[in-house]
Amino acid sequence: MTQTVPTRCYTHLTTGLHERFGEDPGNLLIDAGFTCPNRDGKKARGGCTFCDLDPARTQRQAEPENAIREQVRRQIEASDLQPNAPRNFIASFQPFSNTYAPLEILRQSYEAVLDEPRIAALMVSTRSDCVTRSVCNLLASYRSRVPVWLELGLHTTNQATLDRMNRHERVEDFAEACGDAREVGLNVTAHILFGLPEDDRETNLRTVAYAVVCGATDLKIHNRLLDRSASDAPLPREIEMASPDYKQCISRICDALEIIPAEITIHPFSEHSSSNDDAVMVEHHVVAEMQRRGSVQGCKAMIECG
Ligand code: SF4
Repeated sequence: MTQTVPTRCYTHLTTGLHERFGEDPGNLLIDAGFTCPNRDGKKARGGCTFCDLDPARTQRQAEPENAIREQVRRQIEASDLQPNAPRNFIASFQPFSNTYAPLEILRQSYEAVLDEPRIAALMVSTRSDCVTRSVCNLLASYRSRVPVWLELGLHTTNQATLDRMNRHERVEDFAEACGDAREVGLNVTAHILFGLPEDDRETNLRTVAYAVVCGATDLKIHNRLLDRSASDAPLPREIEMASPDYKQCISRICDALEIIPAEITIHPFSEHSSSNDDAVMVEHHVVAEMQRRGSVQGCKAMIECG
């Protein structure tokens, strides 16, 4: 999050954070050592077909809070060595299911991060079926200190696609978890996947609409084509970006932005891109297409929030 996309045509997360903190906060990725019910056998073994996390890591217990503090310290120290280092940081609990542990372990893990005074926001990513009211209440108890986002993997509203992905989760799990989280005032980010082979344009747009109607405050729309690391990209990036598939991806995102109400915050489209420049390039292409259409986020919105 070191470069800002110059746009007002959609409600970009970075812009909102910049307005809130007076700068772009840094991002700290926290691995708290949790596992996942789709890997440890509670629901299934093997995980979702798209899961690229280390399978050897699935049986580890949650990291002691000192190890989490060490992750925070090391990342902030490394950041401080860079020019224009941020003063504030978002702590993102990302890999695996970050609400899947006894409540006391969750509390110790989150608070190990929040003890660092430069942490300005908390983002916790998890499966919807790992969200309980107790977890929501715990996360909501931090709202007086920092803004809190709960990120839920919705991916698609096509249950057949979820089943083929070995997801072992119902579409309705998202609605229930999102409702519980919103009830206690948490921001909810719906993680949505475009470009799944079984899902067409209508399914993608229906998924976006479903997340909004369920009460999501933020959307993170990803597509494998926009999200490749340098190591698995078959073509140089500039050739890939000129391809019809890439152009269709950008067009599909713009179709979605047009129906998403303007008050919904949009997260970056390519979290795991090989470089920040690459991610910003994707966002510039989205902005260019919106400008070509004369569109802004929500210009075709027929979805009511709530
Ligand atoms: S729910 Fe997440 S951590 Fe678990 S297998 Fe699927 S992608 Fe991996």
